Amino acid sequence: MSIKTSFDICVLPGDGIGVEVIAATVPLIERVAQGAPFGFRFHDHPAGAQHFRKSGDALPAATLEAARKADSILFGAMGWPEIRYPDGTEIAPQLDLRVELELYAGVRPARAIPGVRLPLADPRAKDIDLVVVRESTEGLFASRGKGVIDDDREARDTMVISRRGSERVHDFAFRLAQRRKLRGLPGRVTCVDKANVFVSMAFFRKIFDERARAFPEIEARHNYIDATALDLIRRPWEFDVLVTENMFGDILSDQTAALIGGMGMAPSADVGDHHGLFQPCHGSAPDIAGQGKANPTATILSAALMLDWLAERHANPALAAGARRIEQAVDAVFASGRILPYEFGGRDGTAAIAAAVASNL
Ligand code: ATP
Repeated sequence: MSIKTSFDICVLPGDGIGVEVIAATVPLIERVAQGAPFGFRFHDHPAGAQHFRKSGDALPAATLEAARKADSILFGAMGWPEIRYPDGTEIAPQLDLRVELELYAGVRPARAIPGVRLPLADPRAKDIDLVVVRESTEGLFASRGKGVIDDDREARDTMVISRRGSERVHDFAFRLAQRRKLRGLPGRVTCVDKANVFVSMAFFRKIFDERARAFPEIEARHNYIDATALDLIRRPWEFDVLVTENMFGDILSDQTAALIGGMGMAPSADVGDHHGLFQPCHGSAPDIAGQGKANPTATILSAALMLDWLAERHANPALAAGARRIEQAVDAVFASGRILPYEFGGRDGTAAIAAAVASNL
C-alpha cells in the first residue's frame, strides 16, 4: 500500500479573530509542505454566526459534507454575542460538528513555552506539560437544546454518561499517555470527576478503572474536579494526561490555557475515529476582532497537532517531522524575547507573530 501524501483540508475560518488567525496560519502550513514529501489543498467553507446572520444557516449542509469528506478540518472560531438563535443560545456550529462527526476526544494540550511569561511565580511552572482530554459528545452538553423550564419555576439540564462514550474517551487518553511516555513524559492518566456525589460520575470512574487494566504500564489516578481546580494552581507540573466529562473539560481547559500564558497560546484538537478538527482553544474574541491584535500561536500550534494526527493516521513520519518544525519555530520565536503579543501587554499583532514564526521555519 502506498503512503498517502496529498491531503484535502476543509478550512472553516468562522467569525471574528477566527478569520484572522486562520489567514495567518495557512501560509505557514504551506511553507512546511514546500519541498516536503507531502502536500495540502485548502478549501474554505462558510459557517458561523455571521453566516447565520446573512443566510439563516449557521452550518450549511454543503459545509458539513465538505468537512465529512476532507482529510482534516482546520477551524478558526465561531460565535458572536449579539447573534443568537431565537431561544437565546449562541451560534456554536463547533458543538454540532463534534456530535455530527463523533469527535469525542477534545484534546487540549498546555505546555509552557520557554520565554512566555507564566502567571504562576513558582519556577516549576516552566515544566508544565499536560493534556486535558475532554469528552466532547455527551456529559452535560447532551442537554444542549433539550433543557426544560417548567412554568418559569424550575429549569433542568440532564447529564448523560454512556458506557460507549466513556470507554472510547478513556482508551484515547490511555493511548495518548502511552505515546507521551515514549517521549519521556510520565505516562500517567488522571480521571477527573465528582464520583463522590453523582451516580453518572461514579459510572465514568468505574469505566475508567476497567479500561485502565488494559494499559498496565500507564499509571491511573483519580482526582475530584474541585481538588483538580486547586491542584492545577498548586502543582500543575505533576499532571500528564487528564480525562474528564464535557462540562468539566470545558472549564478546566480554559484554566490550563491561562497556566501557559493565555487563550492565544492554547491549541486544541477534536478527534474521533474517522475525523479530526483542529482549532485554537479561544473563541471569536469580538473585543479585539478586526484590529490585527489576535495572537495566532494557538492556531499555529493546532496546525502542528493536525500534522501529528495525519502522521499517525497515515503512517507518514514526514508529517510528524513537519509538526516538530512548527513547534520548534514557535519556541524559537518566544525564546528570542523579541516578540511580545498584545495579549501579554506587548505590541506584536497577528501578522508580526506569523512572520516571526515563518522566518524560523
Ligand atoms: P468562546 O465562548 O467562544 O470560547 P470566550 O467568550 O471564552 O469565547 P474568547 O473569544 O476566547 O472568549 O476571548 C476571551 C478573552 O481572551 C477576550 O478578552 C479576548 O480578547 C482574549 N483572547 C482570546 N483569544 C485571543 C488571542 N488569540 N489573542 C489575544 N487575545 C485573545
